[in-house]
Amino acid sequence: MYEGVNASEGIGIGTVVLAVEPDLSFEPTKVEDTQAERDRYQAALDVFCQKTQAQADRMKVTVGENEAEIMSGHIMLAQDPGMTDAINASIDGGTCAEQALVETSTMFENMFLSMDDEMFRLRAADIADIRTGILAELLGREVVDLSVLPAGSIIVVHDLTPSMTATIDKENVAGIVTEVGGRTSHSAIIARALEIPAVLSVPNACGALHNGMTVIVDGINGHVINDPTDEQLADYRERAESFAAEKRALEAFRGKPTVTADGDKKVLACNIGNPEDAKGAVDHDAEAIGLFRSEFLFMDAKELPSEDEQFEAYRKVAVTLKGAPVIIRTLDVGGDKEIPYMNLQKEDNPFMGYRAVRYCLDNPEEYKVQLRALLRASAFGDIKIMVPLVTCVEELRHVKALVEECKGELATEGYKFNENIEVGIMMETAAAANIADILAEEAAFFSIGTNDLTGYTMASDRGNDRVAYLYSWYYPAVLRAIKKIITEGVKHGIMVGMCGEAAADPLLTPLLLSWGMEEFSVSAPSVLKTRKTISQWSKADADALEAEVMQLKTADEVKAALEKAAR
Ligand code: PEP
Ligand code: MG
Repeated sequence: MYEGVNASEGIGIGTVVLAVEPDLSFEPTKVEDTQAERDRYQAALDVFCQKTQAQADRMKVTVGENEAEIMSGHIMLAQDPGMTDAINASIDGGTCAEQALVETSTMFENMFLSMDDEMFRLRAADIADIRTGILAELLGREVVDLSVLPAGSIIVVHDLTPSMTATIDKENVAGIVTEVGGRTSHSAIIARALEIPAVLSVPNACGALHNGMTVIVDGINGHVINDPTDEQLADYRERAESFAAEKRALEAFRGKPTVTADGDKKVLACNIGNPEDAKGAVDHDAEAIGLFRSEFLFMDAKELPSEDEQFEAYRKVAVTLKGAPVIIRTLDVGGDKEIPYMNLQKEDNPFMGYRAVRYCLDNPEEYKVQLRALLRASAFGDIKIMVPLVTCVEELRHVKALVEECKGELATEGYKFNENIEVGIMMETAAAANIADILAEEAAFFSIGTNDLTGYTMASDRGNDRVAYLYSWYYPAVLRAIKKIITEGVKHGIMVGMCGEAAADPLLTPLLLSWGMEEFSVSAPSVLKTRKTISQWSKADADALEAEVMQLKTADEVKAALEKAAR
């Protein structure tokens, strides 16, 4: 058995198809007729772009618009003047097109790889992908074609690039195994969108797994079982069946209201990262958007998105949700979310530093562009503004004052907007939890960001393996913080929701219900499952479990008690 990263849930049993990279070796030559060589490069680039566009069009239908955009991004990157000019200059110096492409693209790739930011490292992978495509055109060699596969194929490949994925016929692929890539890599994103079980980062998968071999891809636990025994096959067939049955059974909750066992109505919302995700949220039966991470709009751009661009993005989500609530978080830059063109200085302690609302309030003119866009979009649906990383009431007051200022300007300019737009708080710092009573008097709503709240409460960096044992919301310290936020919010009559990952943790659901939380905001695939868990608990049962659990002193005891009670 091999272990890797569980990147896309599900169990696939099938036969290995090794997607071997084409042989792209060549002998560099010295060119005389540099114009002819430039033309040869341009012709290869044109064919590459045409093929990639065709793949993007196909992907739009088979995978989704977001994923197709990754391919369109390849075309832009391949045609980027920075890169083509450098390649042409190299050809003018007598280098052959193949060598000019390899040298220049490798230079760009290394530059991206040397940057700390994950977004840039993804760009490096895109460059490598483009190089393979154009080089194959120059050399007249075929790149891996996954469009004609026997049913039940398990694709084993060094790295599943977006261009390979474009041609995949979903029906024939039972699983994916790669040697590289993490949960946020493009391959992971695409595998999840295709709902194909995937295990990534399995060392030497291409050497260890051979064509025709039977393997099991357990995308739930991140295991790949080679040459399984009859017993293992029977076991995993059963697991696959129960996974599928669980998914089918959840369909019973589609279109149903979200209610507890004793009929208390809750709101099941979705977290999204860009306007296109809103459709996915609605398709997965979400009732609202509980968190739109607006920083992704900024990360995907090359410069600060203009007021009109932002307005269009927010309006699109509001319209897609047809009047249902849409909570849009204002720019949460900094910490682990870098936006290169903002040129923020490196800090020793970025999670405690100049980020989110701190940055925005220090750059009010920039912040007002976003607030104005949000206000203008509020004329098209129920948009609410959420402020990240609040630690004191002064910050909330300051943001609200800026919102009022923007309202005044927009009214003078003749724009329509929701006069009563709600301004709420992302409750994600220990400070905010401690003054939940003070904040509840002036915030329109709370949404608990357990991803950060857990880290800030336990003083444990979520990315640091050595202190990962402390990063858990089962610790009484985190549970008490969550309890205080919810109960203070409820006491003051404001809506309290949760948009951190803990909202989708079924073990935590009864506690959240006992404290009176109203909105659960989860990722799209977790909507129906969370609705089901909520339906299994009455207030009385949840209260009894809460009374028992809140007496416990350690995270292990808490987790064990919650597991014992789980339904
Ligand atoms: C959180 O902190 O819980 C949250 C939802 O925001 P993010 O993960 O974007 O920091
Ligand atoms: Mg956060």
